[in-house]
Amino acid sequence: MIQLFLPLNFLGFVYREIRRALTDLENMLGLLKRKPDITDAPDATTLQLANGSIRFQQVDFAYQSGRPILQQLSFTVPPGSKVAIVGASGAGKSTIARLLYRFYRISGGSICIDDQDISTVTLDSLRRAIAIVPQDTVLFNSSIRDNIRYGRPNASEQEVEQAIDLAHLRGFINSLPHGDATQVGERGLKVSGGEKQRIAIARAILKKSPILVFDEATSALDSTSEQAILQAMREVARNHTSVVIAHRLSTITDADNIIVLKQGRLAEQGSHNELLAANGEYARMWQLQQKQQS
Ligand code: ATP
Repeated sequence: MIQLFLPLNFLGFVYREIRRALTDLENMLGLLKRKPDITDAPDATTLQLANGSIRFQQVDFAYQSGRPILQQLSFTVPPGSKVAIVGASGAGKSTIARLLYRFYRISGGSICIDDQDISTVTLDSLRRAIAIVPQDTVLFNSSIRDNIRYGRPNASEQEVEQAIDLAHLRGFINSLPHGDATQVGERGLKVSGGEKQRIAIARAILKKSPILVFDEATSALDSTSEQAILQAMREVARNHTSVVIAHRLSTITDADNIIVLKQGRLAEQGSHNELLAANGEYARMWQLQQKQQS
């Protein structure tokens, strides 16, 4: 009897963990509210990756008809560059990440990766090309190492070690009672928001996708944690095309291009210095945030 029970028990564990992982994926993009009905087109092709360029062309999008969220939005992210998206709460920043991952269908325009319209490629090939670091990562009940490995379960030990270093997790792991075997998640060690985000960065590194989307946490992290995340992100971004959805402008002053959204429309774009000199929406947001910090 026990011989039968053990494998069944194990299967139950695997099932629960898979369910949890799927929930994690949905949570990360705030999708529990609505199940999207996106599937592959019958003639969908595999995305042929070149170097990971992104192009939004006159994109219109609404979650519900009659309430437009993005309107005629156009911008490009050249391969290997870092683009930041900023704007007031509700401007549509996270929506851009959801559309890039094709969780919803756009109502006008097109979104292309390496000149291929993402609505014509398979979801699997599209989602393999993009690694997302969400605002709040859900950890599943297992060791911290398993949680990192979740980025690519067949990664080698050496790759996992490298991801731990690049994500600035080494010091944290060394401080834990059982190192990377320490159990985390609801039933394990509670992990801070900043540590969770670094675990998500390590997962993204392991996923080895050419495009990285980083959704900055809205809740303020302590400055040590924030600095560790920023350093980790800068190292990872070096080998990726990256899109950073930013709430704190101080974290994206080094971006190659900053897209400023206002009520779902492109208000202006440029580098930090260009936008300050333009003295428009971005300059106003910058001055406001500087005042709040002082
Ligand atoms: P924040 O800075 O607060 O994270 P944001 O700029 O990322 O905001 P989005 O999350 O993109 O904003 O949301 C844009 C608008 O779309 C908001 O008005 C929001 O209420 C609405 N919205 C977001 N998700 C949904 C949804 N699943 N169904 C309906 N409306 C939604």
